[in-house]
Amino acid sequence: MTIPFVDLQAAYRELQEELDAAALEVLRSGWYVLGPQVRAFEQEFAAWLGLPDAAGVASGTDALLLALLAGDIGPGDEVITPSHTAVATAAAIQLAGARPVFVDIRPDTFTLDPELVEAALSQRTRAIVAVHLYGQMAELDPLMALADQHGLSVIEDCAQAHGATSQGRVAGSIGHLAAFSFYPTKNLGAAGDGGLVASRSPARIERVRLLRQYGWRERYISELAGMNSRLDELQAALLRVKLRRLEAWNRQRQALAARYDELLAGASVTTPAAAPGNQHVYHLYVVRSQQRDALRAHLAQHGIQTAIHYPVPIHRQPAYEHLAPSRGLPVTERIANEILSLPLYPQMSLDDVAQVAHYIQQFDR
Ligand SMILES: *Cc1c(COP(=O)(O)O)cnc(C)c1O
Repeated sequence: MTIPFVDLQAAYRELQEELDAAALEVLRSGWYVLGPQVRAFEQEFAAWLGLPDAAGVASGTDALLLALLAGDIGPGDEVITPSHTAVATAAAIQLAGARPVFVDIRPDTFTLDPELVEAALSQRTRAIVAVHLYGQMAELDPLMALADQHGLSVIEDCAQAHGATSQGRVAGSIGHLAAFSFYPTKNLGAAGDGGLVASRSPARIERVRLLRQYGWRERYISELAGMNSRLDELQAALLRVKLRRLEAWNRQRQALAARYDELLAGASVTTPAAAPGNQHVYHLYVVRSQQRDALRAHLAQHGIQTAIHYPVPIHRQPAYEHLAPSRGLPVTERIANEILSLPLYPQMSLDDVAQVAHYIQQFDR
């Protein structure tokens, strides 16, 4: 018996006919980057967020980078962000030429602690990148209030939170700019890399559109110093098919997570908590255990694949340790040794959830 951590082929099989037809249409069209599929996907995704427009780009990392550049953030600027996130979040800030300032998280939701954000503000702070980690939104209202007070940009990192809501507002619709990733394992995943920048401001989206292709409005005339971060037609066509299934898939993730919650209620692990008013879309189902490594080995012995998101905080990694705050990040450092991501994907069976829970209970005895 093996219970995989994720099964991307199961998602493909569910939509095989439509995905195959969409891919063939692009192959036969002869138009492969930034064409009608990308434009249609941008409009459909923006409409789904309740925003006027969005810009498709080459990856989630690029979406963050281009959101920062569109917000005029660069050398000399500080950007507040968690250390407990995918390294891409900090990498994008550095690629923009700015300095990541790492702030600790809340131990219950794993998202930025707004009080600590306020304490970390300096004369150089220009932006906050709030990460909606594991599928639930960071607390944005206090961050938006700080941004108003101090003239900062709030950028939502939505790479793990397609469709998550807080008080009925969808992730990506609240901050000044938002970045999405369509890396294959995300809740909305392509068959390759892809990303998107969303914003309520058409001017900011226009700036991303220029920057993603050498600053061109007119071909071969660079109005801005830009880069190449184009989304391709094949990914956009596949993403259009999958976008129509996203909410159903998120509901399946929620049903599986609810089953885990029920079955693990009396176990030694701490199950994930959703903050009041938050709809969690369970990109990952992350528990905490005081004996994480032994539990992980026990599950592996019984054919159950797990993962750790993330084993080493960014400020403890060689490329970024010079940016570690002097007093450290106690919550981030503690939970890195306790977190364990259990198998979860929309097509997973309730029986497999029960098997995983069974072996966790067996470990406890
Ligand atoms: C995946 C991810 C990214 C980066 O997306 P890519 O498409 O892999 O570049 C950024 N932030 C978070 C939180 C992510 O999980």
